[in-house]
Amino acid sequence: MLLTWWRRWRRKRLLQSGKLDDAAFVAAVEGVRAARALDAASRRRLRELVIVFLAEKEITGMGGFSVDDRVCYLIAVQACLLVLELGIECYDGWTSVYVYPGSFREADGEAEGGVFAGVAMQGGAVALSWTDAVDGAADGRDGFNPVLHEFAHKLDMADGAANGVPPLPDDMDPAEWGREFADAFAELGKDVDDGRRTRIDPYGATNPAEFFAVLSETFFEKPQAVRKEMPAVHELLVRYYRQDPMA
Ligand SMILES: [Zn+2]
Repeated sequence: MLLTWWRRWRRKRLLQSGKLDDAAFVAAVEGVRAARALDAASRRRLRELVIVFLAEKEITGMGGFSVDDRVCYLIAVQACLLVLELGIECYDGWTSVYVYPGSFREADGEAEGGVFAGVAMQGGAVALSWTDAVDGAADGRDGFNPVLHEFAHKLDMADGAANGVPPLPDDMDPAEWGREFADAFAELGKDVDDGRRTRIDPYGATNPAEFFAVLSETFFEKPQAVRKEMPAVHELLVRYYRQDPMA
């Protein structure tokens, strides 16, 4: 309770100071299609979230990568776009963002680990590949965006388990979410098994957590595809994110 109060007070102070490199913020917003499309009021809200995000998260270069303003703002703008209507509290409980120059192997000593464009750790850091982050932002309509993807995992993990169900607002029914997502997940899995070309990245068929992360990046980059393929899930994403990138 005390921590919550203190955090709120600190955030209020941060916003009063209003400290931000506005040129870097605008450049980052212009580089992300879904952020560029926001109206003036939403942009102002995004700016506030970015102030708090940059003050509270530590963005560190790995593997010799040096982090500058462009890196920080491009990551912050996209991370905050996800929580534009949810609030920055969704990212409480962890602080580190690691940025590698390119795709990387997970450094936890697991022998079979693959090569990653991004990783979100349960209760811990987000790791990102800078070249993939830049690629992801460059084409805002291809449905590939590892920054949105990894931060969507952090939303999912906010209640502990990465299971494809983030903590939902009171006016949403977890049973309905579970049912609609399970149906759409099964359908994508079947299409992938049958070798059909899918408009949703087949990686989403890996498990329910990847399904939610893939659908989140697709929701912001090519929402028509989600609405066409999975209208019920699209509707739930609109209600959850309280945004409609189609609109
Ligand atoms: Zn993932």
